[in-house]
Amino acid sequence: MIPLEDARTHVLDRCVALATETIAIDDALGLVLVEPVRSTGPIPPFDNTAMDGFALRAADVETAPVALDVVGTIAAGARPDVEVGEGQAVRIMTGAPVPPGADAIVMVELTDFDEAAATVRVAESVPVGNHIRPAGDDLSPDAIVFEAGTELSPAHLGVCTSVGAYEVVARRRPRVGVISTGDELVDGPGPLEIGQIRDSNRHTLLALVSSMGATGVDLGVVPDDEEAIRAAMLDAAAECDAVVTSGGVSMGDFDYVKKVLDEIADMRWMQVAIKPAKPLAFGTIGTTPVFGLPGNPVSSMVSFELFAKPGIRALMGHESPILAPLVGRAAVELGRRPDGKTHFARVEAQPGEDGVFEARFSGGQGSHQLSAMANGNALAIVPDGDGISAGEPVELILRDWP
Ligand code: AMP
Ligand code: MG
Repeated sequence: MIPLEDARTHVLDRCVALATETIAIDDALGLVLVEPVRSTGPIPPFDNTAMDGFALRAADVETAPVALDVVGTIAAGARPDVEVGEGQAVRIMTGAPVPPGADAIVMVELTDFDEAAATVRVAESVPVGNHIRPAGDDLSPDAIVFEAGTELSPAHLGVCTSVGAYEVVARRRPRVGVISTGDELVDGPGPLEIGQIRDSNRHTLLALVSSMGATGVDLGVVPDDEEAIRAAMLDAAAECDAVVTSGGVSMGDFDYVKKVLDEIADMRWMQVAIKPAKPLAFGTIGTTPVFGLPGNPVSSMVSFELFAKPGIRALMGHESPILAPLVGRAAVELGRRPDGKTHFARVEAQPGEDGVFEARFSGGQGSHQLSAMANGNALAIVPDGDGISAGEPVELILRDWP
């Protein structure tokens, strides 16, 4: 058996960042910038009000309550066509430009507007600059808004468009082919014959691929047949940037994935010192990385999390392909026996009273018991030994935020 770190290094050494593309901002979620995004002007572009209310001179309301003459109204989007003089005020709506002459905003709740008389009574004094958002307060005109290497989140997309960056230069989004192998696998709700099971891995793996910001390509179920597997693998490698298969990499008589990949790919067959997901086949067909994940549903998910996800993140250009676990606490004893492997227990992690994440088993720990994955949100890293006692620290790979 080889240590997890060695297997990961082997994988990451062979997953090279994909080419760069100019990408429309609405297609860029989750991608990694190759060129920085720069602002082209101040954001906000002009001094504007943070509140609905009245623009006025702070000096005029020092002796509040006072009454001022209302000389106009400025809506958001309007050009300020009035000037605020001594003893005057202008009605103003959130986001509207502050008119010349005014140096403060009083929110509408502190005013009493008499429309007929065109006057407003202001109840309280306010300091200069009150509720004014100055131009450039968020971003200065020539700022580097985001550095190369930034992963684009929804907020990043918003900031990019606010500075007029409707296209960004980023790493291409990987297309990841997902194949299930096995004569026992069927798709669809119909009744199962003896020996058959429904293919669950492909659906889970496609969802894992898309949830990390790559594009999943459904390449279907391939039977345990050497020729069919060869054709499927070659097509997949030609069409996709990475291929994820499940099943057929163990020691069984019909595990042809191993035989075929040995012929057409530069493969390494690893027994990784982890449980579940000990067997890992990884290699390249040409330059396309191929992840041969084990067939058991929990194993294939764990293997995806530990190997395929970092590998695909490397293709996407992430500077840190492996996400650091967070440190929580065992809520119950996370028991195990020594076997030379690191265990990845299926757990539910919830913040305890002190805010520290507390982990407890989320169901049966067999590698076929996928419901413990669905009912949990994290993998607890339980090092070789006798387990982790309740109350002790435990590293958690959070799969979903609780
Ligand atoms: P294998 O790695 O092909 O020996 O498969 C190991 C176990 O995982 C067997 O019980 C298979 O039936 C099961 N298995 C393999 N592929 C899938 C799949 N796509 N969906 C659900 N179970 C699977
Ligand atoms: Mg099989």
